[in-house]
Amino acid sequence: MIPALMPTYSRADLAFTHGQGAWLFTERGERYLDFGAGIATSSLGHNHHGLVAAIATQAARVMHVSNLYRVPEAERLAQRLVDASFADSVFFCNSGAEANEGLVKLIRRAMAQTGRPERYRILCCEGAFHGRTLAMLAATGNAKYLAGFGPAVDGFDQIPFNNLNALRAAITPRTAGILIEPIQGEGGIRVASVEFLHGARAAADEFGLLLGFDEVQCGMGRTGKFFAHEWAGVTPDVLSAAKGIAGGFPMGAILATGSVASHLTPGSHGTTFGGNPLACAAANAVLDVLLAPGFLDSVSAKGRLLAAELDAIVADAPNVFSSRRGMGLMLGLTCVPPAAEIQEAFRAQGLLVVAAGENVLRLIPPLTLTEADILEATARIRAAIAPRRAQAGAAAPCVITSTASVSA
Ligand SMILES: *Cc1c(COP(=O)(O)O)cnc(C)c1O
Repeated sequence: MIPALMPTYSRADLAFTHGQGAWLFTERGERYLDFGAGIATSSLGHNHHGLVAAIATQAARVMHVSNLYRVPEAERLAQRLVDASFADSVFFCNSGAEANEGLVKLIRRAMAQTGRPERYRILCCEGAFHGRTLAMLAATGNAKYLAGFGPAVDGFDQIPFNNLNALRAAITPRTAGILIEPIQGEGGIRVASVEFLHGARAAADEFGLLLGFDEVQCGMGRTGKFFAHEWAGVTPDVLSAAKGIAGGFPMGAILATGSVASHLTPGSHGTTFGGNPLACAAANAVLDVLLAPGFLDSVSAKGRLLAAELDAIVADAPNVFSSRRGMGLMLGLTCVPPAAEIQEAFRAQGLLVVAAGENVLRLIPPLTLTEADILEATARIRAAIAPRRAQAGAAAPCVITSTASVSA
């Protein structure tokens, strides 16, 4: 019999009643250290006082009025995002997929309005994830996600990630823009090389294309910069944000330079819920934390601590992990056994992580976690893999003995 909740996920048998900081508590009274953060979304952790108070206060004032009226909370939020980024103008929506849809519409519209309507195709990268709407399935290009949903929406071409020659070779007179995740999240914490991002910028400029970055997962402070592309010193023309932007309240945003954003005139794009007072109050509360002096540096410092701990674990347990990837608090462990088995062992030790492509486990905790939380997590990882290390360790003396006898 079909469950009332459509069975689109194979869910872990865990139901959380409440959370505090980086911790979640179940209805059975167990506590879990949350290194998944609702897929890099609960950026301030659980029950964050400022965020909870902002939502409660705004909810009691007014939640929703529609975009037929001015929304002061949205105007303030947009100005703060503009001040903190490359962008001159922002459109608010409700999810990452919706932000990417708008990003692609904006690129196409800019081409059409500058006399190049034949340029409508977007170059996307293999291993990317851009969302689950019909067009974003085609942008993502993953056969597994496309299966059974009819003809893929036209207008998206895939190139190998981090391959600049392939990117340049794929540009045709129909190409309008390039869409890249500076760090692929679902794809397995694959970091775009600085050369690739610079090369994409140069190619866009050379051929008159627009460069879009999907920072739905890697943006909003996750890597220790406001946006991840800042590490590479490359700016896009248009960018999508969502996930962490409102700390768990559903929201997405399209950020663009003035020359691109000016192509969206009244009536050309819209949303009922997007940028409503409640969502904007939540996002403003997130910015209160992210933009506080020193906060992003603290994300970097915590990221370095976690990365160093993970590197030591990888070095100690090469039979369990083959590498550590990522930057800031967007890190991944490449597993040797099936990642699902290691994820299960972590869960048995009360540590939650998220699986990704390439047999990777993602560690994407709240940005507000403490150093003690990090050390607690890495102690739990060590405990979770201890049985596998012991197995490998038991075999090691035999190898050493035989080597010794050969050389003796
Ligand atoms: C999660 C994600 C999306 C889709 O966001 P939704 O809010 O689920 O629609 C798009 N791009 C990236 C990089 C993501 O990680």
